[in-house]
Amino acid sequence: MKRFLLVVALGLAGLALNAQIVRRPIVVPDIPGYTTLKGDMHIHTVFSDGKVWPVTRVDEAVLEGLDYIAITDHVDGRHMKMVNAGLFNCDRDKSYQIAKDYAKGTGVIVIHGGEITRGMPPGHCNATFIKDNDAIGDASDAHENHFDGMMAGLKVAREQGGFLVWNHPHWSRQAPNKTEWHKENGAIYDAGLMDGIEIFNQYDGYSPEAHHWAVEKNLTVISGTDAHYLLSNWLGGAMRPVNLTFVKERNTKGIREALDARRNAVFAEGKVYGPEELLRPLVDAILAVESIKTTPKKITVKIHNGTSIPVVLEKSGGEKYGYTRVLEIAPGADYPIVVTPAEYGTEFTEPSVDITYKVTNFFVDAGVPLEYSIHVDR
Ligand SMILES: [Zn+2]
Ligand SMILES: [Zn+2]
Repeated sequence: MKRFLLVVALGLAGLALNAQIVRRPIVVPDIPGYTTLKGDMHIHTVFSDGKVWPVTRVDEAVLEGLDYIAITDHVDGRHMKMVNAGLFNCDRDKSYQIAKDYAKGTGVIVIHGGEITRGMPPGHCNATFIKDNDAIGDASDAHENHFDGMMAGLKVAREQGGFLVWNHPHWSRQAPNKTEWHKENGAIYDAGLMDGIEIFNQYDGYSPEAHHWAVEKNLTVISGTDAHYLLSNWLGGAMRPVNLTFVKERNTKGIREALDARRNAVFAEGKVYGPEELLRPLVDAILAVESIKTTPKKITVKIHNGTSIPVVLEKSGGEKYGYTRVLEIAPGADYPIVVTPAEYGTEFTEPSVDITYKVTNFFVDAGVPLEYSIHVDR
């Protein structure tokens, strides 16, 4: 009996554990003028070399509260291998269609995409917001040469209105020692066939080189899981990297408009990467000021972080004042920042005080943290 009870107890514990991991939405704030959407721009299914059926990708997106996913199965021979093996008898848009149909009523927007997969250089590129993967795949497959094949595929994708991204320039399988801007990638860029660049891919994480090229060449920063496996298994329960896309309207058109306008940031492994003009209002929105109390000798600013994004601050400038030099305001945390004149016990003489920090987990360029300040009128 004891043994039976133990089994029941373990079973219940298992249930409870399952219940805890059912839904864990990523919470992000909107910024003035825009709604912040969370999305994954790089996802595979069994319709190329992924291990899951397309509907699973929608279920995963619902669990994390994602607003959109792009299905980007390889458009090359990997699909045809399955067709030739008699496993499928369908075109290369089927995974998108299955996911899109299943997503109806879930709130998840599914974006039509495909990955053009060639050797390095130029490597792999994602074409999203496209219409016909067969045309893109056939155009690319018609060329032995990797660069010619990529150019042909990208041109067809562009004719279909595609948004074109250079994927994982730092992927260790194609760039074992160095992340390089090859002349072939330069030629794609010069031909106007590169709109964005993956600066984060779950296989090799963050690429400072790619981030810097995005800044230098005005490309949209993009992240993708590049999920081939079931995400909960592959990531061990950790949050996936997401795009934070700042849209005017919450639909496919709105997402595309934002990506074209480079209103996108990447949130991955507790860090945020993106343009300064987006990251500053984002920090403002994350660090909600709950109250400000001023006395002649002391200012107390109470901050609450109600989002999933941590903010790590390191004092910069502001030598005239004393306040906590390094602090992490974790998701869900309340924190009072207490400011006094540098000479403790004296009174403030200025009508206003700027509490200035570097945000050491927000990067506007590779190695360049966001400068941030809280302005307090006394
Ligand atoms: Zn790839
Ligand atoms: Zn991929």
